[in-house]
Amino acid sequence: MSVKCFQAKVVCDTPEKREYLWLTHTLFHEALRALIPHLFKMRRGDYGADFKEIYEAITDNQNSFAKLEPITTPKAWRSKHADTGDTKNRWADLCLAVNREGRILFDRTQTPFGFGSEFWRKVCEMAIQLIHSHDGLLADWRKERAEWLDNKKQWEAANPEYMAAKPTFDAFEDEAGRLRGSRKRWLLYLEFLQKHPELAAWRGGEAKVAPLTPAERKQCRRPGDQFEIFWEKNPQLAELNRLDRDWRRNFARFKRRPTWTNPDPELHPAWFSFKRGQTYKDLDFARRTFNLNVLVGEDVKGRKGKWVTYEFRHDPRLLRLRPAEQPVKVGPNKFTWLYSDPLLKKDRPAEVKGIKLVFRNRHPYLLFSVDIADEKSAPLTRPGFDDKRLKRKATAADIPDGTRILSIDFGQRSLAACSVCEFIKGHPERPDAVFFMKLPGLKFGDIGRHEQTISRRSSRMFRAGPRSRESRHAPRGGTTFREFRRHVLKMKDDRYKKATRLILDAAVRYDAQVILVENLENYKPDLERSARENRARMRWNVQRIVEFLDKSAHPLGLRLWKVWPHWSSRFCSACGHPGARFTIPRKNAWKRFYERRHGPIRKPVTEPGGQFFICSNPKCPRSTGIINADVNASLNLPRILADDLEKPTGQGKTRLWRGQEYNPKAIAEQCQQRLDEHFRSKADLAQQTPW
Ligand SMILES: [Zn+2]
Repeated sequence: MSVKCFQAKVVCDTPEKREYLWLTHTLFHEALRALIPHLFKMRRGDYGADFKEIYEAITDNQNSFAKLEPITTPKAWRSKHADTGDTKNRWADLCLAVNREGRILFDRTQTPFGFGSEFWRKVCEMAIQLIHSHDGLLADWRKERAEWLDNKKQWEAANPEYMAAKPTFDAFEDEAGRLRGSRKRWLLYLEFLQKHPELAAWRGGEAKVAPLTPAERKQCRRPGDQFEIFWEKNPQLAELNRLDRDWRRNFARFKRRPTWTNPDPELHPAWFSFKRGQTYKDLDFARRTFNLNVLVGEDVKGRKGKWVTYEFRHDPRLLRLRPAEQPVKVGPNKFTWLYSDPLLKKDRPAEVKGIKLVFRNRHPYLLFSVDIADEKSAPLTRPGFDDKRLKRKATAADIPDGTRILSIDFGQRSLAACSVCEFIKGHPERPDAVFFMKLPGLKFGDIGRHEQTISRRSSRMFRAGPRSRESRHAPRGGTTFREFRRHVLKMKDDRYKKATRLILDAAVRYDAQVILVENLENYKPDLERSARENRARMRWNVQRIVEFLDKSAHPLGLRLWKVWPHWSSRFCSACGHPGARFTIPRKNAWKRFYERRHGPIRKPVTEPGGQFFICSNPKCPRSTGIINADVNASLNLPRILADDLEKPTGQGKTRLWRGQEYNPKAIAEQCQQRLDEHFRSKADLAQQTPW
């Protein structure tokens, strides 16, 4: 089942309507803040062992509210779980005893927000959820801290000489620590080092400092330059300084323990959600109205809320939902809506679940979460065959005749090179379609550059001296470039989603049942495939797209298979012979990097990571033997799946291919010869596009 989230803005034609929603929101928080301290006290055992045990039962599973019921109302409580003698239901016995004795936490019906049990159910669920997420943060912090302490201990044990000299440094830090990062501090530090000759003898040796001469001082404008000369004259001190910096950077302090933050309607909001039948009803997307059970100002005690009709302006995508004539059952789930899927162009059973009430700039919005039933995927494999096993090895027999596969090789220049082919008798036929997938707008390279800008600027910010043009402007303790970072994050997310959508679109358009991608788990940058600096970053981005695909392909009835891409870019997809990648350098690049080796005339040269691929086989069915390298890799993926790609055997330098030595260098030379022959008669490369 997949979950989609849609947003709608609430239209409040009268100020009261908005006020009701805001009241619901704020009272939700008041109730949370009333309940949470009790839960913490129960957990600590402040209320006794029985309450502690009830707390554990409450946090144990979903139905937390039922367990809270007997301890927040004085009403006599009965439960089918009590007195069963089952150890699983011990909480019910404890609750019953507490309820009979009247030792309840508080009477929720007497609180100013004591309305409706559905409201309290939400309060209880949210309280438990908040505590759990805080616990998670705390556990992570403790683990990290334990590791940090361990590292610290090891480092200190490895540098006993520094540890002996450390108190002297500490004294200096006490004095000048406040000035951290300033020019004044650097000058004081220099003075301090010159005043403590004993530091120079930290590893034995002579206790003597070679001070800077006035002439040396004069020639330096910045303190950093002075230090450069000083370290050169005193290598022992330079080493000690390095250790001191190491210690202070890594071990002087550890990040603060995460603190509990009480939910607050404005600063740290938790969102209330409405439940069908209980707190919302009559949802109508066509008329854009529904009835909400909201709190109104009057009638303080025991209020049940009031049904008010609200109108909303929504995401046009919500119009794809309409009520089903008959509820549809899929597995254990019942669906009462239909979602017209724009991708598959058909209706899918859907169910509107909770509706979250969210405030942005104090204006109410609704978030609809909608469950959509999965499409059945075609029975591709033998019964009992596990999709996951394909990550390791596929056998031809597992892929029935007529299976269409869209294989994708993610690239740098376009989003991906794609090919579609059909499997017959366990082998890929000639491809039906070969195309590039392009995503307009920012490229991964652009995102990478944004990231570089962030890291460069933030590092420069702390170095900035008085003369620097870029001044330091980060608020103390604040995150630097928060907005910029958020922008980059959003941009990436947007890109992943768009890319996923494009791929799914292509799969549906070409009637493919399987999407085949490279398996990038444990990806190690390989010389052949990582020519560029941005490569690693791009790989990471691609991995995220694959994660998105993994989540969204299955509900559409598509399968996502992964194959190991090794060798896919080194062998020809037409004849299976080894080949090499090549590139046509630009004029400037030719002058700078290639001219010395290849002479003054610009020509195509073999190079790892090049844009094109050339086959070394003179009898290759592809007449020129030349093809785009990414297309070649994408054509090779189904061949790897079918085990058609003949790979070299053996290890390291002594690999064999078809009984002959497999030597990438020799192959590259052979390919270069082919290239030279092919382009010999052509004088001007710019007019050449033979592929
Ligand atoms: Zn070939």
